[in-house]
Amino acid sequence: MRFMDDEEVIRNTHILKDGYIWMANLAIIGSSSVNGVAQLHTKILKNEVFKDYFRVFGYKFNNKTNGVNHRRFLLAANPKLSHLITEAIGPNWKEDAGELKKLHVLNNDDSFLEQLFKVKHENKCRLAKTIKTNYGLILDPQSIFDVQVKRIHAYKRQLLNVLKIMYLYNKGINEPEALSGSQTFIFGGKAAPGYHYAKTVIKLINTLSHKIEHDPRVNQKLKVVFLPNFNVSQGELIYPAADISEQISTASKEASGTGNMKFMMNGALTLGTLDGANVEIKEAVGEENIFIFGLTADQVLDYTRSGRYKPWDEYHDNSDVRTCVDQLNSGFFDNMGEEFRTLYDSLMIYNDEFFILKDFSSYLKMHENLQTLYRYQKDWNRISLTNIANSGIFSSDRTIREYSDWIWKIRYRTVNSIYST
Ligand SMILES: *Cc1c(COP(=O)(O)O)cnc(C)c1O
Repeated sequence: MRFMDDEEVIRNTHILKDGYIWMANLAIIGSSSVNGVAQLHTKILKNEVFKDYFRVFGYKFNNKTNGVNHRRFLLAANPKLSHLITEAIGPNWKEDAGELKKLHVLNNDDSFLEQLFKVKHENKCRLAKTIKTNYGLILDPQSIFDVQVKRIHAYKRQLLNVLKIMYLYNKGINEPEALSGSQTFIFGGKAAPGYHYAKTVIKLINTLSHKIEHDPRVNQKLKVVFLPNFNVSQGELIYPAADISEQISTASKEASGTGNMKFMMNGALTLGTLDGANVEIKEAVGEENIFIFGLTADQVLDYTRSGRYKPWDEYHDNSDVRTCVDQLNSGFFDNMGEEFRTLYDSLMIYNDEFFILKDFSSYLKMHENLQTLYRYQKDWNRISLTNIANSGIFSSDRTIREYSDWIWKIRYRTVNSIYST
């Protein structure tokens, strides 16, 4: 064997090591094909995580970017938009999502863009109604719906989103005229049973929601809701109703993401980092039609390797960061005692592993750009249409075809007429 004398390769490719069974190593050895699920993740597997396996089994590594079933997450979840699309370009997009490209010709059709906006509004009303029936919460469908729904996890950075809303709350108190438009922040997602940090994030979202709700200085402008029990059925109501899709994981940490694709198909604009399939979404729509901020994956990996990131520098240099971080650790939230100390400590004592403070100001800036853009309704609608029109490659039809052709090596055959609408 070529690598028998390379100590490093041997050490990094053991199945049994340090008292553990290294399951991913076992999986790579036992597999004929190992795919990352988006370009960036595949690159990280080859060059970082499994670089020694890549030297030995280079031929096994390949990329098959994830997809979502557009007949579930567009056709079934969003009948109004589906009807509008079919009226415009005929029904073939249901079998061939690539046909959505035909929507591009409507880019300057004012009447179509207005209908697109109307459909979004109706989907927001549908969501608002269901939330009112099920949870008694009132949402204003006229406000912009800024949505982050996904499992609660430190790397997905729901905390970054919450700190942004705390910043907006402070702004609403200190310079009320600076808060334009009214914004609804919708969160959903489950925390694993033993994951204390994630449960604390949920508690923080609900506490902030309550605080804003009961403060007449801001409650006409800002609203925060946490929807319990996020699941696919709820997703089918939420994705079609979103204006902004929050895809803000620390670059390099999200393998692909699929929520990002579901939002895009339904015409939401992505506010995100260059992580997972956001990279391919950017390639598909062009950089003027996606709202990217923050460190790149290479920068994150460099900082992590060098240990040179110091959250206290951000804290001292940026008074907005300082104010919000201190509010986690003060009497800002009534009767909360030490409740949010875990979150404060994750940032300031345990060195902000997910670069929340580092990305804070670029996130705020890009969010504000989107907020401004929302006032230019026609431009907004055109970007929304561009996203829908370019979402075809994120249909799982494409993904499954790639698996068939390159991994399973079987003939791909579509089964027609399995759906009605
Ligand atoms: C799509 C989906 C996810 C994945 O969302 P990400 O934003 O990619 O993490 C998780 N849960 C449910 C219920 C979904 O429908």
